Amino acid sequence: MNSEDRVIFTEEMKKEYTILIPQMAPFHFELLSSTLNSFGYKSEVLANNGKDIAYLGNKYVHNDTCVPAIYVIGQFLDALNSGKYDVHKVALIITQTGGGCRASNYIHLLRSALKKAGYGYIPVISLNASNIESNPGFKLDFKLLKKLVQSITIGDLLMSLYNQTLPYEVKKGETDRVTDWWMQYLSDEYKNNVKISSSQLKSYLKDIVNDFNQIEITNEIKPKIGIVGEIYVKYSPLGNNNLEAFLINEGCEVRTLGIVDFLLYTFESVAYDIKQYGGKYLTRIIFKLLVKYVEHPRKYVNKLLAPTRFAHVLEFKNLKRLAQPYLGYGVHVGEGWLLTAEIIELIKSGVNNVITTQPFGCLPNHIVAKGMFKTIKEAYPSANLGSIDYDTSASKINQENRIKLIVMNAKSKLNKELKKNTK
Ligand code: SF4
Repeated sequence: MNSEDRVIFTEEMKKEYTILIPQMAPFHFELLSSTLNSFGYKSEVLANNGKDIAYLGNKYVHNDTCVPAIYVIGQFLDALNSGKYDVHKVALIITQTGGGCRASNYIHLLRSALKKAGYGYIPVISLNASNIESNPGFKLDFKLLKKLVQSITIGDLLMSLYNQTLPYEVKKGETDRVTDWWMQYLSDEYKNNVKISSSQLKSYLKDIVNDFNQIEITNEIKPKIGIVGEIYVKYSPLGNNNLEAFLINEGCEVRTLGIVDFLLYTFESVAYDIKQYGGKYLTRIIFKLLVKYVEHPRKYVNKLLAPTRFAHVLEFKNLKRLAQPYLGYGVHVGEGWLLTAEIIELIKSGVNNVITTQPFGCLPNHIVAKGMFKTIKEAYPSANLGSIDYDTSASKINQENRIKLIVMNAKSKLNKELKKNTK
């Protein structure tokens, strides 16, 4: 099906149809759905799980395609088959980055899979900021974009504080309780307000930090494990077999850096390309300003975090600098230079153990993750790096055994350090 044949999401559909969103990042996507709903859409983040997702993904998508496409398309098909939805009153939404990677083509794979599975009449909405595809019933204007970005900023903070608190909570379940309260509160708040003003955003961020800071914690010292990688398998519990939960069960603290950095990297890459290869000067300036605008609330977050035990967020210009000795900024297919920079950011912040999540079929991230291990280890000899492959047919046991090895190394290094310090 070429784009001219696609099913259009009309203005009438906006009122009646439920937009299904694949689950990628639990802390963020619920807020993104609440954001869409506050703009008059009816949307829902998929919560279906299970073996049928990989089965359907592999059945309707060529199996040499990147793993995120197989999971996302499989999750949509599984939801449509479930009987939970009126399949004549749903639309699907998927991002289209417009970059050099296959992620821009997932939408075409999805439409083709829908057609083969007998759902060719379901409209698919492209979520993109570059006007690649449009629909009369869905408009990503500045107001919506602004609230989506604010929600991602909040999602990043919730995820980070959750990960830094859960392993140490004295009263079991307290971190989940605070997190669930905030998710529900924000969803209710969003219903009543289309806009989040700057002062309102600041107030949310301040209260979130205060609430997590008040959770009573033990004085245990646990090994810290960073997670970086291709964006879907980095955050998606479905794509990475619940990696964060597994590491927490193994007695570790998890550090997963936020999605805002990925947005900044994407905007910065557009501006970089225009400078290097030509394009409209005004567009370049707009993307440069977007970087500043999107990053701005994090400065406030850092002020809030400064007097607490929580890790601060690295300024984007400093994050960029970390990649400079190793990779050019033109390396921005997939996660590109950002992935290497994030590994170094973690190491420099004291998180020496880093897992890179690597989906099957993802050449670009193989180069900037595992491909950089030797170089990074030469510069940072204490780094304990490991790459975990994610494939729909990969054995979970094999993945967990590899992860346990990384955890074992992390624990043994930590014990040595602790012994040294008590000498
Ligand atoms: S980053 Fe990797 S997984 Fe994502 S579209 Fe590109 S090749 Fe596929």
